[in-house]
Amino acid sequence: VSTLEIRNLHVSVETEEGPRQILRGVDLTVRKGETHAIMGPNGSGKSTLSYSIAGHPKYTVTEGSITLDGEDVLAMSVDARARAGIFLAMQYPVEIPGVSVSNFLRSSATAVRGEAPKLRTWVKEVKAAMAGLEMDPAFAERGVNEGFSGGEKKRHEILQMALLKPKIAVLDETDSGLDVDALRIVSAGIEAVRAQGETGILLITHYTRILRYIKPEFVHVMAGGRIVDEGGPELAAVLEDSGYDRYVKGGAAAA
Ligand code: ADP
Ligand code: MG
Ligand code: MG
Repeated sequence: VSTLEIRNLHVSVETEEGPRQILRGVDLTVRKGETHAIMGPNGSGKSTLSYSIAGHPKYTVTEGSITLDGEDVLAMSVDARARAGIFLAMQYPVEIPGVSVSNFLRSSATAVRGEAPKLRTWVKEVKAAMAGLEMDPAFAERGVNEGFSGGEKKRHEILQMALLKPKIAVLDETDSGLDVDALRIVSAGIEAVRAQGETGILLITHYTRILRYIKPEFVHVMAGGRIVDEGGPELAAVLEDSGYDRYVKGGAAAA
């Protein structure tokens, strides 16, 4: 069983005033087929965790470990992490002007699979995945994230995930800025990948709204760079009612 294991993770970020400690000892295990939600107030370190898993150079691991099936993820380059089956849908996806969605997806798939997908089956795969996300086929010829609406950016991220079939998918606020229809479509896309049972999903979100569509087996609350509470889906319902106040005022986030 594919397993991502994060142990005692401490991460600092380079700022203009020097390094600043953001994560202060995160422990998390995500197995293939499981869906985990990481919830928490703004600034609690959720995106820092996602960048650290993907290998963003600005974030330095100062203590602790990340392994995938026992392999040291921290020793891997960003590309090697992707080839190992780690996928990150960023909170703020970047534009890649001049590169079409179609070419981008094909080169990503080639990089991750180690060989170029056969063109005929690939075209069918892309068409089917796009149809599932209610995307116009013409979208494939647009430049990656160039002039995309918020909803289009998030759908494009889910399209990538559906085609790359990662072992571990980290979805950083894939629900933010979506209207109800886009949220429903994006959620269905995530559920479709989940239903295949081959991917461990780390659903990072500030809001509880997506959890009406996707019921995670595990909910973790992050505050002040630590996981301060854990439970099942019932915890999401508690957060929907009472928000994060008790965690923030409780002192865990004050450090
Ligand atoms: P979240 O995703 O939960 O909102 P982040 O991980 O984005 O939290 O941020 C956690 C803290 O780290 C915040 O105080 C934020 O300002 C700081 N931080 C994150 N990335 C950077 C960066 N590149 N430069 C400076 N500060 C950062
Ligand atoms: Mg934030
Ligand atoms: Mg964030």
